[in-house]
Amino acid sequence: MSRKRATERLDADDAGIARAAEILACGGITAIPTETVYGLAARAEDADAVAAIFAAKGRPSFNPLIVHIPDMAAARSLAEWDERARMLADAFWPGPLTMVLPLRSVAGLAPAVTGGLDTLALRCPAHPVMRAVLDRVGVPLAAPSANLSETVSPTQADHVLSTLDGRIDAIIDGGTSKQGLESTIIALEPDGCWAILRSGPIGVREIEALLGTAPGVAGSAIRAPGQLTRHYAPGKPVRLEARSARDGEFMLGFGPVNGHWSLSPTGDLAEAAARLYAGLHRAAQAPEAKIAVAPVPQEGLGEAINDRLRRAAA
Ligand code: AMP
Ligand code: MG
Repeated sequence: MSRKRATERLDADDAGIARAAEILACGGITAIPTETVYGLAARAEDADAVAAIFAAKGRPSFNPLIVHIPDMAAARSLAEWDERARMLADAFWPGPLTMVLPLRSVAGLAPAVTGGLDTLALRCPAHPVMRAVLDRVGVPLAAPSANLSETVSPTQADHVLSTLDGRIDAIIDGGTSKQGLESTIIALEPDGCWAILRSGPIGVREIEALLGTAPGVAGSAIRAPGQLTRHYAPGKPVRLEARSARDGEFMLGFGPVNGHWSLSPTGDLAEAAARLYAGLHRAAQAPEAKIAVAPVPQEGLGEAINDRLRRAAA
């Protein structure tokens, strides 16, 4: 259990960003909006601040954190860089792509950030508020999703406060996250192989086209320890591929399949991705004891949406 603290609510303006940066600089932990989901940030080189993230989330210590940096120069100072990383960063940064690269010995990060691995997960976020905080603080920020471990990820400030109010120092309310799904994670192995550790907004085919090689299976050197089967759990049984609601189910629709609430009435995958976690939060709070979800096609963003749904149902 983390110590009880009053959680400051901050606006996404200059004053709020300055206050969040001040709290972070002093070793505090703050929830910050990003284009994927809300992140719970701490200075990545401060072992106590990083420990506070794990405590607040109830996150297992073997599950490493993504480190957020403002640009490629900052990334290069922390991890071993190669031509593939440069091409990916040119194409997709700032944006929802996380690269797992060999950790540089001079990086100076708290060991808990990497879960004791010799690799580091790096992301350069696009959200203006997260970017402004990074600029102000001037050091890399470790930031997992801002929710209790295993629960549904947050795409709104309310979602964050539903599990972390009183457990974190502050939150900047920046409205709804546009993408709504966590970043795609790619591991770049030193031998030239690469693998997707987590599907997300950037599709495997886009990456394949850019790198000119097909993905392999993640080697023993690089794993995604956090990719537990059970994740994103709404706390109720979840039935997938449902065509209609049964008794006692709150149903999330998609396209032509209606429900109590639709991920996207027009069957738009980007809209469904952006609304997925809001739908799961809504279903979790509904009086019905169970959740049903309409089929979502396994194409494009549908792959990442179905990955999250399978874990929610596990
Ligand atoms: P979250 O912070 O909840 O978005 O999850 C971050 C995920 O990034 C973790 O669950 C891991 O799967 C992955 N990750 C972070 N660092 C590493 C690393 N060094 N090697 C492999 N995977 C990593
Ligand atoms: Mg998470």
